[in-house]
Amino acid sequence: MGTILLKNITVDGLQSDILVVGNRIDRTGPAGSCTAWPVAGEFEVLECSGKAALPGFINMHTHSGMSLMRGVGEDMPLEEWLQKIWKLEEGVCYPLVHDAVRLACVEMIKSGTTTFNDQYWLSEACHDAAVSMGMRPSMGYDLLDMCDPLTAARQKDECEEHYEKYSKLWKDDGSIYTLSFHAIYTVTEKMMLWASEFARSHGIKLHIHLSETRTEVENCKKAHGGLTPVEYLAELGILGPEVLAAHTLWLTEHDVELLGRYRVNCIHNVNSNLKLASGHRFLCSELLQAGANVCLGTDSTASSNNLDMPEAMKTAALLQKGWRLDTSALPLQELLDMATVNGAKALGIDAGAIRPGALADIAIIDTDHSWFVSPGPFLANFIYAAHSECIDSLICNGRFVMRRREIAAEEEVKAAARRTISKYY
Ligand SMILES: [Zn+2]
Repeated sequence: MGTILLKNITVDGLQSDILVVGNRIDRTGPAGSCTAWPVAGEFEVLECSGKAALPGFINMHTHSGMSLMRGVGEDMPLEEWLQKIWKLEEGVCYPLVHDAVRLACVEMIKSGTTTFNDQYWLSEACHDAAVSMGMRPSMGYDLLDMCDPLTAARQKDECEEHYEKYSKLWKDDGSIYTLSFHAIYTVTEKMMLWASEFARSHGIKLHIHLSETRTEVENCKKAHGGLTPVEYLAELGILGPEVLAAHTLWLTEHDVELLGRYRVNCIHNVNSNLKLASGHRFLCSELLQAGANVCLGTDSTASSNNLDMPEAMKTAALLQKGWRLDTSALPLQELLDMATVNGAKALGIDAGAIRPGALADIAIIDTDHSWFVSPGPFLANFIYAAHSECIDSLICNGRFVMRRREIAAEEEVKAAARRTISKYY
């Protein structure tokens, strides 16, 4: 890690300089205002005329260990799809998850993502793979006892050991230890309460799936005296600002009010919801207005087929405008915030913005494409017209993880993934 000076780069429409020192943005200012000085390590000055900078994206819901399962259950109902995935996962092991996550990282880096919040088995494999690719992962022990008391007891012990073994190590390399339980229908009530208490007492986040499908809501109402999944978790005292809730798609007015009151982080996974036919009426503005923090994710490549955040941004905005019959729904800046700074807030990291002091996560966009030849604003061209190929280079934590579309390990990562697929599937 050293010093990087990005000269003449467009930031918020202005010709600017960005100075990165170590893993932080040290200074930003009008073009010509920053000078670089060598510190220990590398020292680099880059002329960025014709380029624009955006904060690296924060993908708030992934299962990157599933990246070698892309396309295994096409055109199937969610419940059937889940059964198929769980069957395949019986053979899950470290090399499989590791190679899958490395492949996921190639894809995420190429589409401008610097941080991702993951939920999967063998999170140590996810951590090692992501760190080897230069990304910032958030992950930890994943509780999924299928409501079996013996499995629950074993997982609690394993979880405690896992946290002891990895939390400090991961913090030291800039990763984030996040506990997760799958969902209210795959984990016992006792386990959910234990996980919530564990997360709060250790000051870590709790990543869950919540109100993803209508079936989940109907089953919950039957099992818990008419309570929706959100009301049920509120009743148990589990909702809070540490909760990272994926989907929150099937909500009542009261659910929205509760998610806002408890400052829950609600993660919209638009492409996954559409492809698994879970629904499309995400209550984005209502949640924001109620006080919830709304973020964006892709879910796994087994459900949404890619991990492309700019694509997720476009779909999210089109859908909000479409189903509400309102062109002003989900405006550009709100959309960018969902993909960047809101995710940082949810994870408790100082990132998702290009400003002095923030972690140096910067996507460098090449505007020398037809998509940008326009009198319209850069952000509109980037989100609605361009594709991720316009992302020329990516800096994560003060280091280049991609330069001019090249990732050093890409060929090796693809070859390893192909070998692993032929061995395990
Ligand atoms: Zn998911």
